[in-house]
Amino acid sequence: MAKNAGVRVEMPVQDPLIRRTNFDEVALGYSEEMAKEEAARCLQCKTRPCVDGCPVNVQIPEFIAAINDGEYQQAYESIVETNVLPAVCGRVCPQESQCEARCVRGRKGEAVAIGRLERFVADWHLEHSKSAADGFQSNGHKVAVIGAGPAGLSCAGDLASRGYEVTVFEAFHTSGGVLVYGIPEFRLPKHIVEAEVKALQTAGVTIRTNCVVGRTISVDELFEQGYEAVFIGSGAGLPSFLGIEGESLLGVYSANEYLTRMNLMHAYDEAYDTPLRKHRRVAVIGGGNVAMDAARCALRMGAEEVSIVYRRSMVELPARVEEVHHAQEEGIVFNLLTNPIRILGDESNRVRALECLRMELCEPDESGRCRPAAVQGSNFEIEVDSVIIAIGTSPNPLIHRTTDNLDINRWGGIIVDEQTMQTTRPGVFAGGDAVTGSATVILAMGAGKIAAQSIDDYIQSKAQETQEA
Ligand code: FAD
Ligand code: SF4
Ligand code: SF4
Repeated sequence: MAKNAGVRVEMPVQDPLIRRTNFDEVALGYSEEMAKEEAARCLQCKTRPCVDGCPVNVQIPEFIAAINDGEYQQAYESIVETNVLPAVCGRVCPQESQCEARCVRGRKGEAVAIGRLERFVADWHLEHSKSAADGFQSNGHKVAVIGAGPAGLSCAGDLASRGYEVTVFEAFHTSGGVLVYGIPEFRLPKHIVEAEVKALQTAGVTIRTNCVVGRTISVDELFEQGYEAVFIGSGAGLPSFLGIEGESLLGVYSANEYLTRMNLMHAYDEAYDTPLRKHRRVAVIGGGNVAMDAARCALRMGAEEVSIVYRRSMVELPARVEEVHHAQEEGIVFNLLTNPIRILGDESNRVRALECLRMELCEPDESGRCRPAAVQGSNFEIEVDSVIIAIGTSPNPLIHRTTDNLDINRWGGIIVDEQTMQTTRPGVFAGGDAVTGSATVILAMGAGKIAAQSIDDYIQSKAQETQEA
C-alpha cells in the first residue's frame, strides 16, 4: 500500500534545466516498485466509474489488479482488448478530465494515476514481448481506412481483430498522424508510436503510405477495388490564422508547419538538412497543447526567451495541466490576458515585434468561459524575432471535395450520426478530428471504435441480404 494512500506516487522526470536543452522524453515512467505501490491505491470499486470516463472503456480495475499481482502480461492483454495504443494513451491522454476525473480516490485525495499505470504496462510489454506470431484469419471482407492517425488506427485494429482485411491509406510516408508529426519527441518518443503501429500490422492491418486519397485514389475507386466500406479518419490538419497584419513576414509559422519541421523532418538534429532558422525571442499565440508543444520546442532549439500569448487567464488555458506545469518549470513565460493585434517587421521583412492589447475578463460566453474584452489604449509591444500561431486547425477539404454525397458542417467537419459514425453517404463512415475538429487522441480512438462496430454491422447485414436474395 502507498505510504499515504491519498497521494499518488510521483513519476520521475528529467531535471527542467537539463531537459530544456534536449529532446529526450521528459517523464521517465514508473519502476515496477512504483507501479505496484500506485496500483495498491486502487479500491477495485464495484461500480467502476473510471471505466465510464474512458472513451474506449479500458477495463481499468482489472488491469490494475493484474499489476498488483505482478501479472504484467495479463494487464497488457486486458488493456489491448479495447485500446490499441496503450503506450501512446498512457502518455498523452488528458487523463485528468477522462478516467481519472471519475476515480473515487479523487474525492478525498488524488485520483489513482491510471494513465501512468497504463504507460507502465505498455512499456513493460514493449520491453519484454517477443514479436507475436501473425494469427490473422480473414473473414473475406475488405475495408479501406483513410488516415493512419489515432482514429484510423483504432478503427483498423478493431476491424482486423474481427477478421476484416483492412488497408489504411496514409498521405505521409509514415503512420501515426499527429502522434508523429505534431506531438514532440520529448512527450511521445516516435519509437513508441512505431512499435504500437507495428503491433497492429502484425495483427493483420495493411498500411499503404504516400497515398493521398482525393489525389492518388478516390473514395469511388476504393469501392470499385472491392472495399465494402470506407472509414475517413483524415484529421484536421489545416491551420487557422489570426487574419492580422504581418502574418506573412519572415519568422511567422503556423504551429503545424513548425512542429512538422521539428518532428517529421528532425529540424533539431544536425544530421538532417531541415531549413529552420534559429530564433532568439519567440512568441507562441494560443493556449492549447499545440501552443505548449511549439513553445517548448522553440526553447529546446536555443531561443533565449519564449512566451505564450493567450487572451484569457490561466484558469481558461485549455492545455493539459501537466504540460503547462512542465512548460513553466522549463522557463516559458506566460503573457496572459494578452491579445495580439499586429506583427511588426523590419526593413528585411523579418519579424521584429508583436503588438498586443491587454484584456480583461467579463461575463461568461455560451461555452461558459469568460469573454475577454480589450482594455482600450493598453497597446504594448513584445520584442520577438519569431511568432508561432497555434490557434487551432480545421479539416482539410480534399476528401469532401472529391467525394459525392458527403456532407460537411460549416466548420468543414464531416457530418455523421454520432451513434454510428455513418456519414451522409452509405458505406462511408468517419470519426476523429475530421468530424469534430481538433480534439484529443482518445476521443478520436473512441470514434474509430464506434465506427468499426458500425462497419461490421453494415457489412454483415449486406452479406445477409445477399444470402437471402
Ligand atoms: P490525425 O492524428 O490528424 O491523423 C489523420 C491522418 O490522416 C494523418 O496521418 C494524415 O496525414 C492523414 N490524412 C489526411 N488527409 C489524408 C488523405 N487525403 N489521404 C490519406 N491520408 C490523409 N491530444 C491529446 O489527447 N493529448 C495531447 O497531448 C495532444 N497534444 C497535441 C499536440 C499537437 C501539437 C497537436 C497538433 C494535437 C495534439 N492533440 C493531443 C490532439 C490529437 O493529436 C488529435 O486530436 C488526434 O491526433 C486526432 O486523431 P485523428 O486520427 O482524427 O487525426
Ligand atoms: Fe484513461 Fe486514456 Fe487509458 Fe482510457 S485510454 S484509461 S482515458 S489513460
Ligand atoms: Fe480504482 Fe479509482 Fe477505478 Fe475505483 S474509480 S476502481 S479506485 S481506479
